[in-house]
Amino acid sequence: MNLLDILYPKHCALCDRVVTGREYPVCFSCRNELKPIDGPRCMRCSKPIENETEEFCLDCKRHHFSYDSGFAVFLYSGKLKDSVLRFKYAGRQEYSGFYGQMMNLFASGQVKRWNPDVLMPVPVHRAKLAKRGYNQAQVLAETLGKMWNIPVDGKTLKRKKNTRAQKELDPKERKRNLREAFVLEGKINYHTVILIDDIYTTGSTVDVLAGLLKTNGVKKVCFLTLCIGKGF
Ligand SMILES: [Zn+2]
Ligand SMILES: [Zn+2]
Repeated sequence: MNLLDILYPKHCALCDRVVTGREYPVCFSCRNELKPIDGPRCMRCSKPIENETEEFCLDCKRHHFSYDSGFAVFLYSGKLKDSVLRFKYAGRQEYSGFYGQMMNLFASGQVKRWNPDVLMPVPVHRAKLAKRGYNQAQVLAETLGKMWNIPVDGKTLKRKKNTRAQKELDPKERKRNLREAFVLEGKINYHTVILIDDIYTTGSTVDVLAGLLKTNGVKKVCFLTLCIGKGF
């Protein structure tokens, strides 16, 4: 163990145990458990689907989303779920290195096919930003942008108000609430945008942002997230 490891201990990106050497960024036991999504997936949002004769998941059948397509590497469950919560709320920005590696390994082909002009992180409200100190989606987007040499625009999309907890609202109110929450500040001139976030759940945020970008001239909007919730 060297001095830096003692002063700034590194953590396993999944279980948060202090690790060194070859156990970084993920310890050996966590490595064995880590499984990206495989098997049949929704053609639009990439959620795993049970019945492989189906093209789309139930969500995507029910709603017409404004985005074109999306991709996620892992299911939002188990250790990864705890990991993402620490990444978001407990200052573990360092996990982005590992997340980026995984997204590179499993999603770089898809990203090449999308051929984006820019990556845009899903914005958080500045009150949240002040509390957490960083926007986890921005951290992730910067990691990916550096890796893939794609510009990152984390300034133009803004979340202007803290939305009420979406859980309390019915779907219609939810959408309105969200639509009012985001604005585009300044002019953009992008053909293809990839929205970056840590997790995709119902898709409503990505959907609203895609709609906003498209009314401002963007032709294609995709999303890339580390994890995705299970289909409904
Ligand atoms: Zn671990
Ligand atoms: Zn879907």
